[in-house]
Amino acid sequence: MAGGYLITLYEYSPLFYISVVSLCFVVTAAMVLGWFGFDVPVILRSSDDTESIQPTPEKQMVQVTNPFSLEIGSRSASVADGAWLKPGCLEHCVLSCFWGCEVSALQRALQAHQGGSRFSTPQHFKEALHRFYHHGQSYYISNEDREERYTCIPADQGLSDFGPLPRRHYPLVAVLTLAEQEARDTYDIVASVTVIHVPDDIYNLSARILFQYLLTSRGNMYELKALFMSANISVESGHPDPDPITRPSETEHEEEEAAGKVASSVEDDEEEDDQGWSDGQGRDCVVCQNAAINRVLLPCRHACVCDSCVSHFKHCPICRAFIQESFALTLGLAVNNELHYEQH
Ligand SMILES: [Zn+2]
Ligand SMILES: [Zn+2]
Repeated sequence: MAGGYLITLYEYSPLFYISVVSLCFVVTAAMVLGWFGFDVPVILRSSDDTESIQPTPEKQMVQVTNPFSLEIGSRSASVADGAWLKPGCLEHCVLSCFWGCEVSALQRALQAHQGGSRFSTPQHFKEALHRFYHHGQSYYISNEDREERYTCIPADQGLSDFGPLPRRHYPLVAVLTLAEQEARDTYDIVASVTVIHVPDDIYNLSARILFQYLLTSRGNMYELKALFMSANISVESGHPDPDPITRPSETEHEEEEAAGKVASSVEDDEEEDDQGWSDGQGRDCVVCQNAAINRVLLPCRHACVCDSCVSHFKHCPICRAFIQESFALTLGLAVNNELHYEQH
């Protein structure tokens, strides 16, 4: 009876089709929403937000003092005429210049330092680079001394360029090491290695620092990145740190060398952000927009989330890099106190 009725509907009424389609739609919608939960739009779900996320391990960070700084002197430099370097150090130190240092030899030396033979004296570098450089010179620099030093390849070697590109020799490698054993025991950073391009007839790009590495007494090596700040921040907010310390800074590294500073670079292009930090107010977490940013994500070094939001992410909300570790940005407060102190 009912079947006959349905068949009649099926044959004669468009209502049947409409009902069936509507029913299917409702069932599908219920399945989709029921399966994923009503409150979360399906499209916003990602691997980041699932409940199964392990909390990011917290990294213990320490401040270290970098006693060294090295800049290229103000006078023009060339391989034939030599170069001026401006070393600086908080303690007495030794500047060793290796002209025409072989690239692979320097890499081997740096690897050896990391591999266990700790390099902390000029002698270590001389031995490691032995026969792999053209000419070496050393200078004793006292801690008060900020004079520029002149270094050159002796004229009798008749060297005016390092051959066609690509080259196997760096024009100049300047190594700073602490002069006294007592200082070597005090500082974590025991040597600074600066690779410098010096122009010659074949490759006349102006003199510049190519790389700068800091070597620690524990056998670590860190590349020193240039620190950049927004050009239009006020004197107060551009407050130079009296202590050269490792501190997360959110300025982008590009060209100018930040002497005496381990600039952990955290990319962030917006200028207002610089302003926000230097005012000491912190910024709103990019996720909850509520709490102050207090987490630096590693290895990408983005400082963008607060303490509570960090546990909800596997990937950096800025660059999507996988978060291996994070550390707290409590140093921001210390900087703020310093600023206040100076104002009185
Ligand atoms: Zn947050
Ligand atoms: Zn990132």
